[in-house]
Amino acid sequence: MKMYLGIDVGSVSTNAAVIDESGSVLSSSYVRTRGEPIKAVQKGLKEISERLGLSLDVIGVGATGSARHLTGILVGADVVKNEITAHAVAASHFIPSVKTVFEIGGQDSKIIFLRNGIVADFGMNSVCAAGTGSFLDQQAGRLGIPIEEFGDYALRSETSVRIAGRCTVFAETDMIHKQQLGHPLENIIAGLCDAMVRNYLNNLVRGKQIEEPIVFQGGVAANIGIKAAFEKELNKKVYVPQYYNVMGAIGAALLAKEEIAVSNAKTNFKGFEITNFNYRTSSFECKDCANICEVVDVSAEGESIAKWGDRCGKFSGGEGGLLSDAFQQKCEQERCSSVDGS
Ligand code: SF4
Repeated sequence: MKMYLGIDVGSVSTNAAVIDESGSVLSSSYVRTRGEPIKAVQKGLKEISERLGLSLDVIGVGATGSARHLTGILVGADVVKNEITAHAVAASHFIPSVKTVFEIGGQDSKIIFLRNGIVADFGMNSVCAAGTGSFLDQQAGRLGIPIEEFGDYALRSETSVRIAGRCTVFAETDMIHKQQLGHPLENIIAGLCDAMVRNYLNNLVRGKQIEEPIVFQGGVAANIGIKAAFEKELNKKVYVPQYYNVMGAIGAALLAKEEIAVSNAKTNFKGFEITNFNYRTSSFECKDCANICEVVDVSAEGESIAKWGDRCGKFSGGEGGLLSDAFQQKCEQERCSSVDGS
């Protein structure tokens, strides 16, 4: 069976998904990045290969997310695209008429406006933590409630306590104050969900038209309290797709499928054997001109395989990092020996 692999590497999570020719999801993985994107990619691919078998016939690979260029080099991606495109493509795949996508992850949030299946506009917020999942995680920890139960608490509330959601400091101070006044926890959590939704809409929508269908994806979409708060605030139905937390990876896989269909090229995928390689990253400052670029160097098995971060292309060869011939050869050898079983 021919398959396509998509990988979405963000600062909080690293997600991978494998789809078939019809775009159905065969397997997916969700791994915490924990500041080590290479290890997270290796762990995610290992999980998938163990589930589906090493001899998977992957004929296209896509990479997205904040570490998409690094990931593209590591795995040999056929297409590398930004998160907005990947999330929009995945949302359109499951709900073709989608007009608005809410995406809230651990450390940033996005809104995407689609018209006739094409991205017409978008907004991103990576500055204000009050509108992201990490703030919810932090508050759940402070209140001693598992994050998975946070939404249930909100739905059990009789009324919502008004919480200042403009920034994390005000929100936390306000929540503590409301706790001291004796408000039930359920009502405070419902108030926090409302505040987070207000913060998201104020920061990202900025007077633009939110049209239905609306798809809500990203890790925070698991929180039914936030979904309910969106529906209450907008008086519109909000859909959470089945694979809400790996939609970026699914989008990357769909983009790889499109790319291969157009180019008819053989995939650059290095194979699942890369999960066994020892990678190392280091960086250095180039002081050869006033730009003083911080150049990142990735090595595998002791050999430098790619460099980027240089504005002039002095180290990367002008293409944001090229694989060395020797490493390319090693990948191919490993792949052959593993497939042959020799
Ligand atoms: S990498 Fe190029 S642009 Fe950057 S500091 Fe060195 S010479 Fe200048």
